[in-house]
Amino acid sequence: MINVTKPFLPPQEEYLKYVEGIWHRNWLTNNGPLVNEFELKLKEYLKVPHMLYLNNGTIALQIAIKALDLKGEVITTPFSYVATTSSIVWEGCKPVFVDIDPRSLNLDPKKIERAITEKTTAIIATHVYGNPCDIDAIQQIATKHNLKVIYDGAHCFGSMYKGKSVFAYGDVCTTSFHATKLFHTIEGGAVFTNDPELLKRMSFMRNFGHHGHDEFAEVGINAKNSEFHAAMGLANFKYIPDLLRSRKEQSLRYDYWMQTINVPKQTINKDAQFNYAYYPLILKSTELTHKVIRELEGNWIYPRRYFYPSLNTVAIYKGNTLPVSESIANHVICLPLYHSLSVEEIDFICRIILRACNY
Ligand SMILES: *Cc1c(COP(=O)(O)O)cnc(C)c1O
Repeated sequence: MINVTKPFLPPQEEYLKYVEGIWHRNWLTNNGPLVNEFELKLKEYLKVPHMLYLNNGTIALQIAIKALDLKGEVITTPFSYVATTSSIVWEGCKPVFVDIDPRSLNLDPKKIERAITEKTTAIIATHVYGNPCDIDAIQQIATKHNLKVIYDGAHCFGSMYKGKSVFAYGDVCTTSFHATKLFHTIEGGAVFTNDPELLKRMSFMRNFGHHGHDEFAEVGINAKNSEFHAAMGLANFKYIPDLLRSRKEQSLRYDYWMQTINVPKQTINKDAQFNYAYYPLILKSTELTHKVIRELEGNWIYPRRYFYPSLNTVAIYKGNTLPVSESIANHVICLPLYHSLSVEEIDFICRIILRACNY
């Protein structure tokens, strides 16, 4: 069986080395030494000033929205994982969906301004599949209309924009370290910001709002992560270059096959260095998409429809019609991509796809 992804696991003894220390200290959670070490190592690696390690990428979005005091309407993308939209609604704001660009698959900056009303307070955009948004264009609009910007960077560990980590952009950028992501800590997430005041606020919020034992500075939640999760992050840390390199090699192998069926590719931002986190395949029709999925599943290969359905069509989120996102959501599948996927497996997958497309 070949799944869309397979979590990376470090050699067991390397994880256990960290776990041994947990037994010595008897310190399991609450901002422990491994959590601190993990934050320091990542900040240094990513060259970002601030980061808070959290228990998942969804709570990261919710804390970002809360810390920026967002109210009213929030402009967002319908082409993302449901957590991007659910977090907006969970925090009491109204998502206003704006269509995506058919090439980048990211929120289309040209369509943002006409969706802005006097109630709009922010833009929340996803760097889809690790491809950075048009960050400059979005910031220009945000500055002009006095809006906050949050990026959902759950896919973009390792992606760069204009020579800096993508996490360095926006008022807040969030990410996820869930087991299925390129770099993971089993469960986990983070918020990044360049603003030390905002950082302080979010750090209170992560720990119930505690300011010392007996005082409370903010309304908080429990967004802390444990020593065991940080241990997994630390054990995985040295494999980051390998994880990035194998994804790239595998993507190039897919490219080699896919150019024969002449499918459109996601256009990567020209100012970006891409992390190859996912391999989306955009097919010609819904019918063909179903056929390709059927043929792959018949061979025990399980691609995923990231992202289906387009979130504006989900009844509980009450969006208006958005043709580009709806069309892409109907035609796109993400092909298997993970560190141990072999060239032979990729070739096998591609032959099935080519046959389904009558090549
Ligand atoms: C995975 C993902 C999330 C949620 O992250 P969790 O850590 O699973 O809570 C949010 N947004 C996007 C785009 C994701 O892919």
